[in-house]
Amino acid sequence: MARRRQIYEGKAKVLFEGPEPGTLVAHFKDDATAFNNQKRGTITGKGVLNNRISEFLMLKLHDIGIPTHFIRRLNMREQLIREVEVIPVEVVVRNVAAGSMSQRLGVPEGTQLPRSIVEYYYKNDELGDPMVCEEHITAFGWASPQDIDDFLAMTLRINDFLTGVFMGIGIKLIDFKLEYGRIYDENGDVRVVLADEISPDNCRLWDLATGEKMDKDRFRRDLGQVEEAYQEVARRLGILPEGATLETIAREEEDGEKG
Ligand code: 5GP
Repeated sequence: MARRRQIYEGKAKVLFEGPEPGTLVAHFKDDATAFNNQKRGTITGKGVLNNRISEFLMLKLHDIGIPTHFIRRLNMREQLIREVEVIPVEVVVRNVAAGSMSQRLGVPEGTQLPRSIVEYYYKNDELGDPMVCEEHITAFGWASPQDIDDFLAMTLRINDFLTGVFMGIGIKLIDFKLEYGRIYDENGDVRVVLADEISPDNCRLWDLATGEKMDKDRFRRDLGQVEEAYQEVARRLGILPEGATLETIAREEEDGEKG
């Protein structure tokens, strides 16, 4: 296959020009970074698992009426997505105190919050993704009040839905980060859609029974068994057949692509 033109390389993904105008191919890497790039490493098989986990969750969200940028998974590490105008705001939802909220406010990790809390961060690596409020977002034109209404409503719905999906497989959804973009149709009408990915890279997932962390905090905090945790999330979601390993999946995919 002809080499595709690279559009952008991020920390965990590379974006290539897609086969049709308005589409992109997202390639999921095994690279992992944390603390605004200060910690770097590799989580073997992460790209393969996140590609599958995100596909699975994006399709479920599509089924409940959430518009997303996801079109279809192409192969082990790649998915076809719609090109969006990126809204430079990270939307974080928290159900249980953890991470930066616990550090900033002194609320012990694991404290159940009385209601879900939504926070906004300005997507800017140089500034270390600072927390912002709605006033900043509208004043600096990152998103309109209508965009905010749209993504806030979607975010709360996604949180309720994913909380249930994970609860059903014995996992507590502690918090997660979403990103949104805009798509313009032929008439120039604009629609806000869910973009990026949903995976253990940007969710905190704790085992319901033991409280064990099953997400990127295992990498961030050097807890070990990082690959195993991502694999276990995929297995419980039913994406990894019983007994399958990353190696057997890789072989199957290779055979599929040849055949
Ligand atoms: P915290 O603000 O506690 O560091 O993160 C809250 C949640 O959002 C966590 O689930 C974390 O994984 C996710 N999150 C926040 N910022 C980022 C980011 O820049 N990259 C990724 N992968 N996840 C993020």
